[in-house]
Amino acid sequence: MKNQIHYLLSLSIATIFFSACKYQVTDTYQFQVKDIEDHIITLSSDDFLGRMPFTEGEELTISYLVNEFENIGLEPGNGDSFFQEVPMVSILATPATEMIISSEKEKITLEGLKDYVIWTQRTDPSISFEDAELVFAGFGIVAPEYGWDDYKGLNVKDKIVVVLVNDPGFGTEDEAFFKGNTMTYYGRWTYKYEEAIRQGALGCLIVHNTIPAGYGFNVVQNSWNASKLYLDDRGKESYKLAFEGWITLPIANRLFEMAGLNEREMLAKARKVDFEPIPMNLKAASTIDVSASYNISKNVIAKITGKTAPDEVIIYTAHWDHLGIGKPDELGDSLYNGALDNASGTAALLAMAKAFKNDTQTDRTVAFLAVTAEEQGLWGSAYYAQNPIFPKEKTVANINMDGINPYGKMKDVSLIGMGQSSLEDILIEELDKVGRYASPDPTPSAGFYFRSDHFNFAKIGIPALYIGTGIDHFEKGKEYGKQLQDDYTAKYYHKPSDEYDPSRWNLDGAVDDVQLLYQVGRRLANDSKWPLWKPGSEFKAVREEYLNK
Ligand SMILES: [Zn+2]
Repeated sequence: MKNQIHYLLSLSIATIFFSACKYQVTDTYQFQVKDIEDHIITLSSDDFLGRMPFTEGEELTISYLVNEFENIGLEPGNGDSFFQEVPMVSILATPATEMIISSEKEKITLEGLKDYVIWTQRTDPSISFEDAELVFAGFGIVAPEYGWDDYKGLNVKDKIVVVLVNDPGFGTEDEAFFKGNTMTYYGRWTYKYEEAIRQGALGCLIVHNTIPAGYGFNVVQNSWNASKLYLDDRGKESYKLAFEGWITLPIANRLFEMAGLNEREMLAKARKVDFEPIPMNLKAASTIDVSASYNISKNVIAKITGKTAPDEVIIYTAHWDHLGIGKPDELGDSLYNGALDNASGTAALLAMAKAFKNDTQTDRTVAFLAVTAEEQGLWGSAYYAQNPIFPKEKTVANINMDGINPYGKMKDVSLIGMGQSSLEDILIEELDKVGRYASPDPTPSAGFYFRSDHFNFAKIGIPALYIGTGIDHFEKGKEYGKQLQDDYTAKYYHKPSDEYDPSRWNLDGAVDDVQLLYQVGRRLANDSKWPLWKPGSEFKAVREEYLNK
């Protein structure tokens, strides 16, 4: 009761205070549950077939989005079209069942799937390598902001680099060394392959280790012999590794031993800034058969042109895709509705578009981009980032929505990637105005900032904001909020049971979060300032490189 009185009192003080302020929360569009709920119900219905790219589910989803954007009265976002085509290739790599590793003295045979997992992004029907030299390249990181270069002095052409998972800071308990246990992008497995590609290596093998990886080797094994989706870059082919993959820790130890090296010593050396790549004097041989098929999916984009700075843009994103029809669950349901992931974010995107349209026109342009193929590797947003419709130097910020709060009102939101950019300062101010707060990412070692579409904007230097549902439940507290999230991960995440269920869902909190992201975007859209990456962000250098030109 005391809390409630205190709360009401602070609310009335807040009302008096903020009525004198420039930004009046109540002056702008006010979201309702209805704005979001109907879209979630439609998009996550069985009729939409789980919204898998290249299927009838895609057709239904993208025409629904275009229809809604048109009804709201938005302009097409790509010239006179609401679509951006995303050409993709599906690659099925079938590796040989063994890899031979030889030193001058001995030869061993590694067993595919059990000892290692490899795949390829190349589309040549058959790939083979023999006598390919192995080099230990530490963590495989080149990080200008830390003066770090694991490839220094190394010509990796025709060589296979063996690198450690995560980044040097993990496990050191030193928050100032990289970011300690908070994963930087350099710790993410996708980064390791990207850097090896930039260096021009033949192949890249990451040494799996359950603790720094955050998942078991079984997760890695799931990509054995499975087809993977990539962007189709025929006509502007970029360099690709002959193969990418993982080896188990015991196998890595065996290879270090064959090379006369010691794994513990290697880890210690790799954590030093003066680390230099170490030739292992080992050679590898194996083959991969490849089949590729091509298809085109679509991003959907709409906009509201700004009044005074129409060429400057704030882009809201949400991925429209999900997993389609797949393996049945224990109840025999095989349709992956993806109600939370991400019918909810897509619904919020439509609600956001309506709010901006119904409010006074902003100075800058606001765009609404529903991207495809997030679930298979963030491809729709990757394609957009490589082929931006609005130039990156004119793009002010990205605000991404991937799953909105279905648990009722929360006092907090979880700020994913805390410390990355000044967008979070605006977010915190807006939270403050309504008596809420930002919690740090509950699992910073999992690298969630690098795992949804905003990340592709960050990679090209555009400040990007991403929040998760908070855990501090208004009535029932943090333990309850945390329990709800754990339940979601265990029972619903990427399962056919991720369905809209009014008995389980309460969108009152989602309304607050969407309102919040609206206030943030609106402030950016009526401002002339540019949000900045904070010192220590791995994306700061990229932005400054082209903004300072
Ligand atoms: Zn998602």
